[in-house]
Amino acid sequence: MRKIIKKVAKGVLSKTPTSCWLRFAKNSVYIPFYHIITDDFAPHIHHLYKYRNTKKFEDDLDFFSKNFNLIDIHQLLDFAREKKQLPPRPLLLTFDDGLREMYDVVRPILLKKSCPAVFFINNSFVDNKDLFYKNKASLLVDYISKNGIGDGDLKFINSLIEAAQMPVNDELKNTILSLKYLKNTEIFDDIANRIGVSFDDFLRKTKPYLTSEQISQMQQDGFAIGAHSFEHQWFGNATTDEQIAQIGTSINQLADKFNIDYKIFAFPFNDHSVSHTFFEEVENKNVAEITFGADGILPDEAPKNFQRFWMENSHASVEQIFKTEMGRKLVRRLKNKDLITRD
Ligand SMILES: [Zn+2]
Repeated sequence: MRKIIKKVAKGVLSKTPTSCWLRFAKNSVYIPFYHIITDDFAPHIHHLYKYRNTKKFEDDLDFFSKNFNLIDIHQLLDFAREKKQLPPRPLLLTFDDGLREMYDVVRPILLKKSCPAVFFINNSFVDNKDLFYKNKASLLVDYISKNGIGDGDLKFINSLIEAAQMPVNDELKNTILSLKYLKNTEIFDDIANRIGVSFDDFLRKTKPYLTSEQISQMQQDGFAIGAHSFEHQWFGNATTDEQIAQIGTSINQLADKFNIDYKIFAFPFNDHSVSHTFFEEVENKNVAEITFGADGILPDEAPKNFQRFWMENSHASVEQIFKTEMGRKLVRRLKNKDLITRD
């Protein structure tokens, strides 16, 4: 029964013209987020999510420019600081994780189309000094899916995972992709050593992240730079005090290095582990002026925490993604659950 309702709802959703959804679009601000745009195969991302190519990205931008007013970070800061009015249907473009394609691919397209944007950077990855553990997981899965795995290696990997008290799935690929931060960071290196994958070689040859020079150039172009934590750590493992300290250092270190005079932060993964008290303290101690979550087109009880919608969950068109997000919002509103609240 549920399946049928879902199918009917999906059908209705896709047949409702975009103009109807736009009339219903009364959120304070719309914030899509991306990680990578490329026409090439990206082994460090491929097994994590469905990234978009340049053609699709340009279509996205055309849709956003036609139906929304693109704003920059200063307009959102003025709105958060002194309730300065935003244009109707404002939209802010954001990009997380500081991948090199931000400079090589996204920057020229945004400049060509005169689109403002914010890039959220992980301090530890700048200049390719370290590799995000999720990128390590994707690289390992990519290697194994192309080269296979011997019985001895499989046994070794499973024993490592069992020793770390993590679940071993039927498929090695799923086991590796489900490994979590902190408990298991060394496991990725241990597996890589065993099967002959070199993360250092990948960092050196591919240079997957932005360099300091590229970030400075993007600032000169007028783009904004925000913090996204040091190592993209999972905040669920930290106390409120630790979360605040980690966010504060991530913002301040980037501010010093790149001369940034505003304090913005996008939560790595999502903001599900942060409390009501967290936002009060962030405001009182002026740790961040505005923060960003990843829960879709939904308002947040914390007035300076803005939720964003993900453009890489599917290969669907931008219109389809927008309609799905709006449909989700409508369903939550009907259940009286469209405001994000916390303990
Ligand atoms: Zn991220």
